[in-house]
Amino acid sequence: MNDTIILNALRTCPGYRKAMGLYVKEEKECIESTKASWSVTLDTECPSCSEDVDLLEYSDFWDHAEFDIAEHGTERTKGVEVTCPECGDDFKVDFQY
Ligand SMILES: [Zn+2]
Repeated sequence: MNDTIILNALRTCPGYRKAMGLYVKEEKECIESTKASWSVTLDTECPSCSEDVDLLEYSDFWDHAEFDIAEHGTERTKGVEVTCPECGDDFKVDFQY
């Protein structure tokens, strides 16, 4: 894509036209894309304080972690020692999806 094509694409971009103070009458093809963000939690009930907690809220959760996001049912996701972000107690969990 050469500079002229990029500039022409920018001129039809609603965000660019708005930034330049141009009134946008209709949506046209735009080189900007709409973003979608993943949101991940690892929810459990702490056996010590009985709180429903997201284990990812514990600040050291990913330290020394040897598994991937959403991994479950594997040897390395069974009996994983975790820390409750509410009361700080350690306990073991099996990851499920
Ligand atoms: Zn707890």
